[in-house]
Amino acid sequence: MSTAPTLSHARELLSRIYGYSAFRGLQEDVIADALSGRDVLAILPTGGGKSLCYQIPMLLREGCGLVVSPLIALMADQVDALKALGVRAERLDSSMAPETRGEALRAAQAGEMDMLYVSPEALASRLGQALSGLPLSLIAIDEAHCVSQWGHDFRPDYRTLDRLKAQFPGVPRMAVTATADLRTREDMLAQLDLSDPGVHVASFDRPNLDLAAEPKAGDRAARILSLVKARAGRSGIVYAATRDATEKLADALSRAGHPALAYHAGLDGDTRATRQRRFLLEDGLVMCATVAFGMGVDKPDVRFVIHADPPKSVEAYWQEVGRAGRDGEPAEGIALYGPADLRRALSWARESEAEPAIKQVQIGKARQLFAFLNGRQCRRQAVRAYFGEEGAEPCGACDNCLDESGAGYDASEWAKMATAAVKRTGERIGRGRLINHLRGEARDDFDESMAVQSTYGVGEALSQAGWRAVVDELLFTGYLAEKGDMLRPVIGLGDSDAVRALWKGEAEVRLKADPAARRERRSKRAAKGGLTAELSERDQALFEALRAWRLEEARTRGVPPYVIFHDRTLAAIAAERPGDMDGLRGISGVGEKKAERFGEAVLALVVDAA
Ligand code: ADP
Ligand code: ZN
Repeated sequence: MSTAPTLSHARELLSRIYGYSAFRGLQEDVIADALSGRDVLAILPTGGGKSLCYQIPMLLREGCGLVVSPLIALMADQVDALKALGVRAERLDSSMAPETRGEALRAAQAGEMDMLYVSPEALASRLGQALSGLPLSLIAIDEAHCVSQWGHDFRPDYRTLDRLKAQFPGVPRMAVTATADLRTREDMLAQLDLSDPGVHVASFDRPNLDLAAEPKAGDRAARILSLVKARAGRSGIVYAATRDATEKLADALSRAGHPALAYHAGLDGDTRATRQRRFLLEDGLVMCATVAFGMGVDKPDVRFVIHADPPKSVEAYWQEVGRAGRDGEPAEGIALYGPADLRRALSWARESEAEPAIKQVQIGKARQLFAFLNGRQCRRQAVRAYFGEEGAEPCGACDNCLDESGAGYDASEWAKMATAAVKRTGERIGRGRLINHLRGEARDDFDESMAVQSTYGVGEALSQAGWRAVVDELLFTGYLAEKGDMLRPVIGLGDSDAVRALWKGEAEVRLKADPAARRERRSKRAAKGGLTAELSERDQALFEALRAWRLEEARTRGVPPYVIFHDRTLAAIAAERPGDMDGLRGISGVGEKKAERFGEAVLALVVDAA
């Protein structure tokens, strides 16, 4: 191209290649900067369309684009999707045959390659040297928060990316990520040494996510089972903290007739790859996974993410729960948490090898997470505030927004009893014994010195479950704190100023409704069936026919169904019933290549359904 590419060129590509009619959110601003050759830092939420932000400038600018991405699986999917669009893209890694690699490099040198995907490890190796001197259009650094040790998935490999500037002088660089608090943001700019970058930070809102969190109570597997049952037939992820838990949950779900698999770092690479592939390809599979099932997961139609154990931090929560509903359709996030989780998180942070300053940050992050989970603020508003977005409105759709108990009930009297009992009994018993003491239920471990205390039996009127809710609330809010070793923790007093204020009646402890009265929670939008709810019955039949065709097509080609067309696109076809190629091309998500490749089959289905 002789003249510099402009935004109108970008719009033309968006429609011709990708089949989309308009840019979303900040895409246009980011692209404008990149087209002008400026370095960019772009922070867009998951599903915000980050890949387009660099792909389009790469297609428009002279030279080949270089995309640095952390995971092979992630790259493979992106490259597949690009090839399906007719874009010349390849993945380079050290495991590939030298000839294939040589061919890709030759094509890039000759101006016959649009973009190359490469991992930071590969870039630091001989392969990276081979890239020197290639005419590059733009370097994109995906998941750029990995460069920061303040962030939540620091990758030492990313630290070597500061060399890119010297290795490819004059080539603009774009760092993109879905997650970064202020400190991580500054760290990315500094570590990558971006020159006078355009910084674009999108809203962190995800309007299609309905969020909820609930304290763990009773049998966790049974709870997860009932949550999944209410969402049967939909794809979802259940995150658990341990490998063992993922296996057990997957087992329990499978036995109950819900297709489920386990995924964790203890499985060999082939098993992991096969399972991840199945998750992408099949509809309605539930993956029970540790966070090892992570960044490579960009299946757009994940309908729910359940945290059977809480995540590590609010950032990690947002990223994990953000794997639901990337297609913009209604999706749910439900997190379970308990006092033992808080204890574990704090002790991990304290015992980690990290420098003291980083430890402090980690402890702070754990506390903020539990304050968020246990808090009564609108979930989305709370996350947005955490990421520095002021003045966001309540979402109206999360558990806290929908909670009818209003301000909750005043549990200050119970809280006074519990804290007093902790003091009287000498801060040396655990939660179970404390509750027995309060209820005046002496068990095997009856200890006379405790039974004579004035707090013995003062809380008889409250049930065991009621007391657990009160004590947990006090642990989460810091009036009480668990001490001692991990296995047999004892409860002590927490923040002494706060406790004093409580005793003097200057502070209040409020609880949500009685946990025993917990009902099945189900977001209204998701229950209605999301996308298909908007279709008439007749159109729904066509939609299902299109999905069946897509699944067949995807199987034949060995790609995930959404690489062919997204649900949203199929629904639009079912509703609009285009009569010819032109009509079909007018539908969002249908570009030139896809119309060419699938147009006939799709139009035939529309005719059949008439
Ligand atoms: P991210 O990496 O930010 O999570 P992706 O780049 O994977 O998001 O994009 C998420 C989905 O949104 C993809 O299926 C993509 O094709 C689609 N998408 C991106 N930009 C647009 C747009 N302007 N209009 C419609 N769909 C878009
Ligand atoms: Zn809300």
